[in-house]
Amino acid sequence: MAARPAPYLNELNPEQRLAVETMDGPVLMLAGAGTGKTKALTARIAHLLHTRRARQDEILAVTFTNKAAREMKERVGRLLGGTADGVRWLGTFHSICVKLLRRHAELVGLKSTFTILDTDDQIRLLKQLIRAEGIDEKRWPPRLLANIIDGWKNRALTPDKVPAADAGAYNDKGPKLYAAYQLRLRELNAVDFGDLLLHMVVIFQTHPDVLEQYQRWFKYILVDEYQDTNVAQYLWLRLLAASHKNICCVGDDDQSIYGWRGAEVGNILRFEKDFPGAHVVRLEQNYRSTPHILKAASGVIKGNSGRLGKELWTEVPDGEKVRLIGHWDGEEEARWIGEEVESIQSGTRGMRGYSLDEMAILVRASHQMRAFEDRFLTIGLPYRVIGGPRFYERLEIRDAMAYFRLVISPEDDLAFERIVNTPKRGLGDKAQQTIQVTARAAGVSLVEGARLAVDQGLIKGKGGSELRKLVEGLARWNAKLRGPVRPVGLGDEDVLDDGAEGPQYEYGPPEINHMELAEIILDESGYTAMWQSDKTIEAPGRLENLKELVVALEKFENLQGFLEHVSLIMDNSTEDVGEKISIMTLHAAKGLEFSAVFLPGWEEGFLPSQRSMDESGVKGLEEERRLAYVGITRAEELCTITFVANRLYFGRWQSQMPSRFIDELPEEHVDVLTPPGLYGGGYGAAGMGGASSGLEQRVMDANVYNSPGWKRLQERASTRPVAQPKESRNTTIDLNALSSYVMGERVFHQKFGYGAVVGIEGDKLEIDFEKSGPKKVVARFICAADD
Ligand code: ATP
Ligand code: MG
Repeated sequence: MAARPAPYLNELNPEQRLAVETMDGPVLMLAGAGTGKTKALTARIAHLLHTRRARQDEILAVTFTNKAAREMKERVGRLLGGTADGVRWLGTFHSICVKLLRRHAELVGLKSTFTILDTDDQIRLLKQLIRAEGIDEKRWPPRLLANIIDGWKNRALTPDKVPAADAGAYNDKGPKLYAAYQLRLRELNAVDFGDLLLHMVVIFQTHPDVLEQYQRWFKYILVDEYQDTNVAQYLWLRLLAASHKNICCVGDDDQSIYGWRGAEVGNILRFEKDFPGAHVVRLEQNYRSTPHILKAASGVIKGNSGRLGKELWTEVPDGEKVRLIGHWDGEEEARWIGEEVESIQSGTRGMRGYSLDEMAILVRASHQMRAFEDRFLTIGLPYRVIGGPRFYERLEIRDAMAYFRLVISPEDDLAFERIVNTPKRGLGDKAQQTIQVTARAAGVSLVEGARLAVDQGLIKGKGGSELRKLVEGLARWNAKLRGPVRPVGLGDEDVLDDGAEGPQYEYGPPEINHMELAEIILDESGYTAMWQSDKTIEAPGRLENLKELVVALEKFENLQGFLEHVSLIMDNSTEDVGEKISIMTLHAAKGLEFSAVFLPGWEEGFLPSQRSMDESGVKGLEEERRLAYVGITRAEELCTITFVANRLYFGRWQSQMPSRFIDELPEEHVDVLTPPGLYGGGYGAAGMGGASSGLEQRVMDANVYNSPGWKRLQERASTRPVAQPKESRNTTIDLNALSSYVMGERVFHQKFGYGAVVGIEGDKLEIDFEKSGPKKVVARFICAADD
């Protein structure tokens, strides 16, 4: 009997149909972004079910995220006019392997009730083993070992298989500790994340009967985002597909962005060798983006070597060019994007109005989200952060804020509990209990209790001396919130109090600003150092977030104002209803699409990221270029790329150069916008020294900062030689060096507006602001005003 007609096939082009209807034997769909790979893969599942080639639970389908799996399941259900809840083996590698491993745990010496360790447990366990070996943890941190072991697991290497070339890892002890770690995990009936795949590969390799059972069971295997599979995942798939070879993999070599986590783009390039006779389907029609967006993306990715090379085309009309705009600094960039989002939402330049759900902001690193979150909260623009906590919910940010809270308010016991042993001060449960008991007995705060406990010698050894340092530190930092004590009205005859009670005293203005204080707190408490010595993949990101936190302080007059702001915004931002713009990293955006996409921070050092170039050279740069490509190709109709001239980085202004990828955008597909308003554009000091050409030069020309005040600042800068490091295109310019203001000079401050210089002390100026009266400000935040 002929199968009933399948309506979903009509939605596909002939190549996609071929990929869907070629059900037997290996199929590779190797095609560029937005060509309908995922759509075809979904249709293929529907087709296998519809034609009764397989029952729902006989299909193994691997996606990159759980979210993608859910969506695929829903789509299959819709295509078949029912539900696809029975497609049980549709999920991520990890979610599928954990189910399989529960069934066969005993084959690797585990019970089916094994627990999956989180990173903290993993580190704790490794630490015990490292100590037992008598290794100096400071020089050889446990997190480094965790990363090394993870790398081996990604490559499907059990301890006995670690190659001789890796024997030197972790001070020659790596392989030995790896073996000990695996043994200990087994004793604890536990696995770590990497084990899920590794154990399954081992089981398949050593128990042919089990492998055979699943080879027969999973009649069809489908894999999305195949370019990002690592060796262990690859081996696992190959073993499962070895007998029937009904495997369909889809991917795009240009979108391989997980090299840093062990993904091997070679897997996809090798497919035809692994599976001789494979049908290779190439899709070239793009259904997602307008021609301008597509061609801009192709222009960028062309810069990579060793590509398979694909030309994409589309039938949709040209639409808007990719828009490029430079801003003065990050705050201005966030402000502009916020306004732009609102105008796109309400319909602009004759375009339809877009829902916030159709828009996304894609950043390279999560710390870049903060500026947008703050701005959107300020203007009440609903947003969601995909794939991670929101900025102020991050661990390191909450730790840092606990320190700030405690400095401002020593009675904040919750904050004290949070940080008393972070970083580790050797204060275990017992010591902390002693503090609690002492505080309660004396009816004082925990900080006071800690001081008493130390004074009375109740906490001994390293813990005691570290606690004393903390308590003293808190008092010292607290004192810096204020200036020195001085009599009221000193030097001002009119208000001098000549009453009988004698002179009144008050605190003068603080001697350092709150950003400097924040840095001092984080440094002197050892908190920054804790992350600096941390060797995990996340640590550099956490340090960047801490730097970004200090940047966020700039907008506030003091720490207190900042903490109030954060508690207010955290309060009204929990519910997840209504339309929202999405903010996420480029990595998290893989496979997704949005009508309007904003790509901020296209600057050297950000995208491409300095770290990935430093660590992986040309390979790293090429992966960054693929990230840029992934970013542009997420956009359907509007794609906006932005960059800034200056970023405040850990309290220092850093001049930014536009990303080299901006230079690679083909000019004819790009609209260079001139930013409106006073702060608009401005290539400032960074642009002056750097050689530039083509588009980049046009961007600079378009953005020449118009304020005469800025021009004067530039003139001053040009009379001082500014060091330009040869290797790096990023230059840090100390704008303090430019603070040669004179008394009475009219100046402009970004926040307080115009005023006259009434006092000069080093890099601090006292300015009598026209609107808000006299204030002390740091010279680098002002520029000469246009008279
Ligand atoms: P990526 O590489 O970014 O993962 P992809 O190749 O998986 O992209 P899809 O997400 O499957 O592409 O499809 C991109 C868009 O094009 C989707 O909105 C999809 O519905 C649409 N599309 C795909 N194929 C067709 C087609 N034959 N006709 C109309 N629209 C299509
Ligand atoms: Mg896809």
